[in-house]
Amino acid sequence: MSSPASRFRIIESTLREGEQFANAFFTTQQKIRIATMLDAFGVDYLELSSPAASPASRDDCATIASLGLRARILTHTRCHPDDVKLAIETGVHGVDIVIGTSSQLRRFGHGKSIDEIIALARDVIPIAVEAGVEVRFSTEDSFRSDVADILRVYEAVAPLGIRRVGIADTVGIADPFRVAEVVRAVRGAIGPTLDIEFHGHNDTGCAVANAWAALHAGATHIDTTVLGIGERNGITPLGGIIARLYASEPELIRQRYRLPLLHDIDHAVARLCSIDVPFNSCITGFAAFTHKAGIHAKAVLNDPSAYEALRPEDFGLSRYIHVAHRLTGWNAVRARAEQLGLTLSDEQAKALTAEIKAAADVGHLTLDHVDAIIHRHVNAHAASPTLAPVAMPTHAPSSPQPASPEPALIPA
Ligand SMILES: [Zn+2]
Repeated sequence: MSSPASRFRIIESTLREGEQFANAFFTTQQKIRIATMLDAFGVDYLELSSPAASPASRDDCATIASLGLRARILTHTRCHPDDVKLAIETGVHGVDIVIGTSSQLRRFGHGKSIDEIIALARDVIPIAVEAGVEVRFSTEDSFRSDVADILRVYEAVAPLGIRRVGIADTVGIADPFRVAEVVRAVRGAIGPTLDIEFHGHNDTGCAVANAWAALHAGATHIDTTVLGIGERNGITPLGGIIARLYASEPELIRQRYRLPLLHDIDHAVARLCSIDVPFNSCITGFAAFTHKAGIHAKAVLNDPSAYEALRPEDFGLSRYIHVAHRLTGWNAVRARAEQLGLTLSDEQAKALTAEIKAAADVGHLTLDHVDAIIHRHVNAHAASPTLAPVAMPTHAPSSPQPASPEPALIPA
């Protein structure tokens, strides 16, 4: 079997699922900007909110579908003839039809039985197929649905001319083992030809792992959003699944996507939603390539792969060796001195490191403090007794490190 990374496609849903994030209120111009950035990055599809949601949503579908982007434009629709007709009129390339199949959604949502869902699908799907648009048919809340029920639905819709079926972990309850089990069962039911899309929420922190498990079990398409924004705490983040895929097949992912754009995409969407990029976001979080502990810094200075699964250079980013703290080590301190154009002997570097650690124990250090200590030490050794001692802070180290690390970038 070919690797999951070689045959997968991204359905980027920041403009659909992402619009359901509590802080997302995108204007038309902002949607165009997001769509254009994601298209430049290289995602395969862009999914937009249903044109039935509001008149502006309908107009935005038509606007983005007319931009001539390389990515194919999809819109989400309920399994209803009017919604599908409205979607087709906007000029999108495809419709993502969805209907709830769990007992919870059937009882508290549309109230239909599985037989009624199948009958409705047989009425609605041909409208889109005959219009020549790409059709996906998805069950909603698939992982709280009876597997026998969803397999019946997929078997019924598979011969109707659809391109793919969708499996949705709508409430984020699935784990990777369960995802693999259900995807394999669906693959068995629909045969080898149709594509399988996975949509996974992140309520238990499993969204990237679940998407990866889905790909391994035979899924072909993964839904993502920028930073994972979406309903509640969102879905599989674009950066997360890219990091996961890159870790397995770096060359392929470098070729398929313009990886250096990811940083700006994450930060642009964060700004539009009035949030920060989380510090621990894969690739683009401010600490993603920051090395702190002395042992780590020493190894990374010798060979970055010692403590890095991802190469920051491939994402247009730099690693950062953090030296201004009590866990620092003399290799990192010496490397910082070299950045300042100063050469230290091993003994000097060790003595300086002891001084930096002692200073860090009594107050919050900044890189400026460290640089001052290095300069003072070197000048002292050059017999320059007129230098004044460095003023050190006396407050406790309570403030967090800056979002943008001070400029101590140690090149690879
Ligand atoms: Zn969702």
